[in-house]
Amino acid sequence: MGTPRLTSKLDGFGTTIFAEMSALAVATGSINLGQGMPDTDGPAEVLDAAVEAIRAGHNQYPPGPGIPALRAAVAEHQQRFYGLAWDPDTDVLVTCGATEAIAAALLALLDTGDEAIVFEPYYDSYGACISMAGAQRRTVLLRAPDFSFDPDELRAAVTDRTRVILLNTPHNPTGKVFTRDEVATVADVAAEHDLVVISDEVYEHLTFDAVPHVPFASLPGMAERTVSIGSGGKCFSVTGWKVGWVTGPSELVTAVRTAKQFLTYVSSGPFQHAVAAGLRLPDAYFAESAADMQAKRDRLVPGLVDAGFEVYPTSGTYFVVADITPFGEQDGMAFCRSLPDRCGVVAVPCSVFYDDADAGRALVRFGFCKQHHVLDEAADRLRALGGAGR
Ligand code: PMP
Ligand code: GLN
Repeated sequence: MGTPRLTSKLDGFGTTIFAEMSALAVATGSINLGQGMPDTDGPAEVLDAAVEAIRAGHNQYPPGPGIPALRAAVAEHQQRFYGLAWDPDTDVLVTCGATEAIAAALLALLDTGDEAIVFEPYYDSYGACISMAGAQRRTVLLRAPDFSFDPDELRAAVTDRTRVILLNTPHNPTGKVFTRDEVATVADVAAEHDLVVISDEVYEHLTFDAVPHVPFASLPGMAERTVSIGSGGKCFSVTGWKVGWVTGPSELVTAVRTAKQFLTYVSSGPFQHAVAAGLRLPDAYFAESAADMQAKRDRLVPGLVDAGFEVYPTSGTYFVVADITPFGEQDGMAFCRSLPDRCGVVAVPCSVFYDDADAGRALVRFGFCKQHHVLDEAADRLRALGGAGR
């Protein structure tokens, strides 16, 4: 064996669970409720706008910060839905999906040896990007069944090396939508310790049961210390387009742009035009997309319960978390690796989203961003597993 080639910063990150499980779905012909990707296209207006943009010749590098029409549309969107006033020229940055926004924000704001606080379970790229920045993460546990956190644990996680709190609401993988009180606690801690909050709000329009999304930057005093992140892929069911954005005060957005320009520089030229059109769709579009996703949740969840899972409530996103203990099993990773062979369904083990191995071991995540007949078929197959009480 020669010298290991992979930097220690990426040691242990291996292949993402989404790549592993989507490949398994293809190899076994299973229904893929693992990686969160809708199986229907976004609104026709948005698809047509992409085709028109290609035909109109918008096929070369767009400007570094994003095309002016999209930056204006993002600023208008933040004003329309949240009353936040951002200058499209200085306070908005277009990125290669929210994924790049997260990476650029962490690389821009964390120095070697700094610490970032994340709530766990956490989206997998957070850990890798904090590490690539040479920083460390400190986790604060979200506890089932409602995935709330203990404010004292958040306070205790702050050290003199803490620079950033990374928040994700609505939350992947749990579907938790942080309450106003909870985000206010985060705001208090951020203000007390002069921290920047990176707020990943890619599922901002996907909340259910009239539960409101509370944008972190809308809290008193927080706009000046928040980097907010959005995703066109999530807003318009076009996850392959990879158009994301960052909003915040110019000082923070400039910092993120400095890192971003050396990652992809620019991306998704014609799709930026289409996402600009999408962000200008009437309120009804956004309400209908949430109602549609809620109906999908309501289609899958009873099937999971009936199959024998203990299912935790989800108020947003594409996802629901279920406990496999009723099946007499504890190891979610082994369960998910065997599920395709056992019944032709793919799910994602939540252990990959946890540092606290015990907390997430028996939890698995199902994505319900699929057509009803697909969800019905998946539920039928899962019932055949013969879970508890069946
Ligand atoms: N953040 C969260 C919480 C996500 O679930 C995802 C999944 N796509 C992303 C960021 C990345 O978004 P994008 O596809 O726009 O890069
Ligand atoms: N955000 C989606 C998920 O959590 C997709 C992840 C990815 O493709 N990296 O499933």
